[in-house]
Amino acid sequence: MMITIKCPKCGTEGSQSLLKPDYEGPYRCWKCRELFVITIKGNEVKSWKPLTEEEFAKMQEAEALKAKFKKPPQD
Ligand SMILES: [Zn+2]
Repeated sequence: MMITIKCPKCGTEGSQSLLKPDYEGPYRCWKCRELFVITIKGNEVKSWKPLTEEEFAKMQEAEALKAKFKKPPQD
């Protein structure tokens, strides 16, 4: 599922793929490169928090790990 996210800083629209209609995680605007933590509920962005580069990297790692462990065993 893909949703459209409008950057609160520059107003540029980007998209984020979601596994669920509710999501909290990192987002980077492709245009102004600003980093945020976004909260999505019911496919709508409910809140934005600015994020540092370091925090963003950490969150991405955590998300990647989660995705890895979510995969069913491939036997
Ligand atoms: Zn932006």
